[in-house]
Amino acid sequence: MHVLPDSVSTSSVSRETVAFIIPLYNEEAVLPLLVAELEAYRAAHAEVVQVVFIDDGSRDQTAALVRKLTGHLEGYVLIRFSRNFGHQLAVTAGMEFVETDAAVIMDADLQDPLDVVTEMIEKWKAGYDVVYGIRKRREGETLFKRTATKVFYRLFRHLSDTDAPLDTGDFRLVSRPVLDAFRKMQEQQPYVRGLVSWIGFNQTGIEYIRPARAAGETKYPFRKLLKLATDGLFSFSDRPLRYAVRLGLLVSALSVLGLIWVLIDKYIIGVEVVGWASIVFALFFFGGLQLFFLGIVGAYLARVYEEVKARPRYLVRETWASEVPAPAPLPVEQEAHA
Ligand code: UDP
Ligand code: MG
Repeated sequence: MHVLPDSVSTSSVSRETVAFIIPLYNEEAVLPLLVAELEAYRAAHAEVVQVVFIDDGSRDQTAALVRKLTGHLEGYVLIRFSRNFGHQLAVTAGMEFVETDAAVIMDADLQDPLDVVTEMIEKWKAGYDVVYGIRKRREGETLFKRTATKVFYRLFRHLSDTDAPLDTGDFRLVSRPVLDAFRKMQEQQPYVRGLVSWIGFNQTGIEYIRPARAAGETKYPFRKLLKLATDGLFSFSDRPLRYAVRLGLLVSALSVLGLIWVLIDKYIIGVEVVGWASIVFALFFFGGLQLFFLGIVGAYLARVYEEVKARPRYLVRETWASEVPAPAPLPVEQEAHA
């Protein structure tokens, strides 16, 4: 039994049905194992009534394999994107699709242990709205990736005003009120974990050791990680712009001091002012700095441009469901409609 802080609501929202949201990008290697694990889990946890796979434009047999493996099973849905839109938008599509009382977002590669899901569901039933997994240790990932993500989460915390927990990915349970709030946020390049922190309600974390991928290769090359990091920073902080202003002021102030020093040298001490090297150095240094900050301004501008164009954030080519649909979330209401 969990002891809850006073702040935890005991509101009367229903806490019965759970859906899994699992994005897939070229995951044919791990799918058979994943479906077997999910079925074993669901046999013991009846609240998991639905599994929503989002096929993020896979180029292998992922979609066909989902149909083959789950066609005869209960409550599987496959949302197929028209192309690869990225992990964050795949998760977003899943969160916008599900109608259950709560949803668990997890990776396809079984790096998010199902034992932890059980704990998440317990905490949710006890009154929490968001239960996220905190990676205490990561196995089977390169030193570079571990260090880069550690540094990023700390930098993010320092730069943004949103109180995001450290070392926390998208593996989490979110309740219906959070899902409803999330649907209202139609950002073009959503940084899901940041948005969920921003939403608030009662959030808590569970520490776990993240195992290595069960099969297949990582689908997050450095380029995608970098995009995730910049999406997070630029959409949750305007501090890079403010730092630019401060640095600009500081440099101007220093240059006035420098000028005074040069004047003293020339007219009071009488030193011949030689300056070619220092001028060239200063030219390149400040040229670089200006381009750098122009780039930062440009990055914000590009994001504004994305929002203004307001294109659909993802396109679904097809939505498929297994033969046995998930039981209706509210049987009482269903009777009333019949
Ligand atoms: N993924 C996706 N679209 C992408 C890249 C990844 O939907 O463009 C999915 C992938 O199939 C997996 C999850 O996102 O379910 C996390 O990817 P991965 O496990 O490769 O990332 P890592 O754990 O190595 O950071
Ligand atoms: Mg993974």
